[in-house]
Amino acid sequence: MRYHVAIIGAGPAGLTAGYELVKRGVLPIVLEKANLVGGISRTETYKGYRFDIGGHRFFTKVPQVQQFWYEILQDEFIQVPRLSRIYYQGKFYSYPLSLFNALSNLGAVNSVLILLSYLKAKIRDKLNLTPEPETFEDWVIGCFGERLYRIFFKTYTEKVWGIPCNKIQADWAAQRIQGMSLKRAVLNAVFGSQNAKSLIKEFDYPVLGPGMMWERCKELIEQQGGTVQLDTSITRIERQGNRIKSITAQQGDQTTQIFADHFISSMPITALLNCLDPLPPPEVLQAARGLKYRDFLIVALVVKREHLFPDNWIYIHSPEFKVGRIQNFKNWSMAMVPDPSKTCLGMEYFCSEGDELWQKSDAELIEIATQEAISLKLGIQPGDVEDGVVIRQHKAYPVYDGEYRQHLQVIQDYLSTFENLQTVGRNGMHRYNNQDHSMLTAMLAVQNILGEKHDLWAVNTERSYHEEFTKEQWTTAKQQLAESQVAV
Ligand SMILES: Cc1cc2nc3c(=O)[nH]c(=O)nc-3n(C[C@H](O)[C@H](O)[C@H](O)COP(=O)(O)OP(=O)(O)OC[C@H]3O[C@@H](n4cnc5c(N)ncnc54)[C@H](O)[C@@H]3O)c2cc1C
Repeated sequence: MRYHVAIIGAGPAGLTAGYELVKRGVLPIVLEKANLVGGISRTETYKGYRFDIGGHRFFTKVPQVQQFWYEILQDEFIQVPRLSRIYYQGKFYSYPLSLFNALSNLGAVNSVLILLSYLKAKIRDKLNLTPEPETFEDWVIGCFGERLYRIFFKTYTEKVWGIPCNKIQADWAAQRIQGMSLKRAVLNAVFGSQNAKSLIKEFDYPVLGPGMMWERCKELIEQQGGTVQLDTSITRIERQGNRIKSITAQQGDQTTQIFADHFISSMPITALLNCLDPLPPPEVLQAARGLKYRDFLIVALVVKREHLFPDNWIYIHSPEFKVGRIQNFKNWSMAMVPDPSKTCLGMEYFCSEGDELWQKSDAELIEIATQEAISLKLGIQPGDVEDGVVIRQHKAYPVYDGEYRQHLQVIQDYLSTFENLQTVGRNGMHRYNNQDHSMLTAMLAVQNILGEKHDLWAVNTERSYHEEFTKEQWTTAKQQLAESQVAV
């Protein structure tokens, strides 16, 4: 088989590349090892209950991405009001913080201690007593003070990553919580957030979940003459010097060799390197072995209750619970639940393949999730959970540990020597990207094939990613998108 462009993976990045190509008259093949599209942004279905691999909000500051989303789904987005809280030591804290709720939960003494520890951090900073933060712990303590760090950041972050906060690079904090400060959080809590910038209070969501976006995208690629082939795993990537000649695709017992002029890969970068034939030099393979991932599993519970709690999701900071976050998919979209008298909760567990939690049977996991849901005072009584299902997600998170940057640099230098291979997306570049930045790298890869010159590694996930958008920016972006709807 010969194509102009072959794309590995039908997650957001791979399908974005496919769609951008067919729009420009180039007919690619997209090869996906799973039996459904969407990658980590897929929507799973169990007995009519739909749920995400973690709730997926559609939020971006990249206009091309927003336009892409509207082009694909048009009016099938709903606007979902955001409500999320933090559960810590038996109490629910509004998130973003509400001053009175936080004060009444923490109590006067604790609140004063938090303020003092914050002032201590700020004074140390002013006197230049704090060295440049290297770890997540340094970064957060520098911004918020030690007490607040212990209550609102340490336990949850350690659940997510499975490593102590002083082993996580400051990059991650800078990327995810940049621009937030206690001062601003308190000002927002007292005066509301309209004075400057605001945390988004509403987000877009496809009425049937994110998988809907990617299923539709696949249909559109196929309608325009492109190919999206599921259940097909790339097992070998044949190279001649610094050119990829072909890839070997395995579908059941059948093996096909696919030749192309250009290759775009969104499969995990470590797996890609190990598929190269001949293999890359030993130092590159060594670097690939150094990159780590965090895995994830979700236990979806069907609960015989029409309403449980109003939040879209709740963060569970208390270390005595294994669950890290709880989604209420009905509060994302009513259409996610086939029976309106029931609720579907997504109990999210952060884990690593092979660890104690990962190895538990599905029945054991459903039992743990059920017991935790009951103990968390969410209004669930014993006997309310009527069914459950477990979905395991490998490589949900690329880990930013102390060594990842130097390993990635070795790999990046090696891959940049290839003439016709581009890696895109989240695991494709080992970047903690959301859909939008994963998609943006794919858009730029297509533009490169069409003769432009973009450095995909420069797609800057570090630039202010936190969910802040001035009201004017938000309105202008929406207006621009409404005006620029392009019919496919
Ligand atoms: C818990 C959680 C919550 C998230 N929440 C949000 C959110 O609210 N908003 C948001 O925008 N983003 C969110 N994200 C991030 C989002 O899921 C990713 O950014 C996005 O899915 C990355 O797209 P991708 O195409 O790069 O990779 P993936 O989604 O990983 O897709 C890669 C595809 O490649 C396929 N593949 C792998 N190996 C092979 C092979 N050998 N051969 C063929 N195919 C292969 C995989 O099966 C997969 O389908 C979240 C992620 C997680 C884990």
